Amino acid sequence: MTEQSRWVVERWECGFSGGYEILSELQGEETPFQNMQLVQSKMFGKMLLLDGKVQATEKDEFIYHEMMTHVPMVCHGSPRRVLIIGGGDGGILREVLRYSSVELAVMVEIDQRVIDFSRKYLPTISDGAFDDPRTRLVIADGAQYVATTQERFDVVIVDSSDPIGPATVLFTSEFYRNIANILTADGIMSRQSGSSWSQPEELAEAYKLVSGMFAHRGAYVFTLPTYIGGLFTSLLCSKGADPAGLDLDELSGRASHLQGITRYYNPGVHFGSLQLPGYIKDRLV
Ligand code: SAM
Repeated sequence: MTEQSRWVVERWECGFSGGYEILSELQGEETPFQNMQLVQSKMFGKMLLLDGKVQATEKDEFIYHEMMTHVPMVCHGSPRRVLIIGGGDGGILREVLRYSSVELAVMVEIDQRVIDFSRKYLPTISDGAFDDPRTRLVIADGAQYVATTQERFDVVIVDSSDPIGPATVLFTSEFYRNIANILTADGIMSRQSGSSWSQPEELAEAYKLVSGMFAHRGAYVFTLPTYIGGLFTSLLCSKGADPAGLDLDELSGRASHLQGITRYYNPGVHFGSLQLPGYIKDRLV
């Protein structure tokens, strides 16, 4: 391995970049949808890359998967039917299945190879979730699925890659309108919306596109090292109660249904994640 290839460097158009020291390249292939690589990084353990962008790492995946899942799930309070769009590594699915109230978890992933690859090389991320009897895997385009399904869901979590390649269709107003249509009357959607410095427009764009589609729209923030660029953001929309209207006691009561130990999420972190700094709040117009 030559010197310069010892680093994976992500670059963003806004003139921002970040890198990870790589000890070895473990696996790689061109799937029908994207380039997929597994590398051993010095600081974060095994790292899954799609089209050169970090998707998940052994060391810090828990942060993203806990926060993308438990904020909408706890806000809802008693989710029974959950839809995940994307999420091929299985981390969101693992977290969704921690609730005894969940009867059905549908995961719509366009690329079967990401699931196969993650099961084989990153089994700690899905941790058996793919084999849970409540799991229903659908290999399809998420935009197509939400446009045509007759199912209804209490929570929808959009864990897509960035708006490039196959994920481009998951960043449109039609996609969000179809999600609003398949959510129940008190349904909630979370949607990863990029890092606030390296992908500054993503949240503002998504927030604008969902205007008029939900009773409440907002965002929450958290931070993890391998999604470089400051606070990471997620859009949070509700057809029912305002997620920002739940106080710490109420959140703590609802979070008691979450089984097992979380290492980032807790009701206090949840409550704090919705208190947006001014520079992010100012983008939500
Ligand atoms: N946490 C990562 C992030 O925030 O960028 C995303 C992880 S997950 C691996 C992203 C998944 O979205 C990939 O497995 C990819 O194949 C899937 N995906 C991309 N476009 C899709 C589409 N149109 N329908 C369903 N899944 C899609």
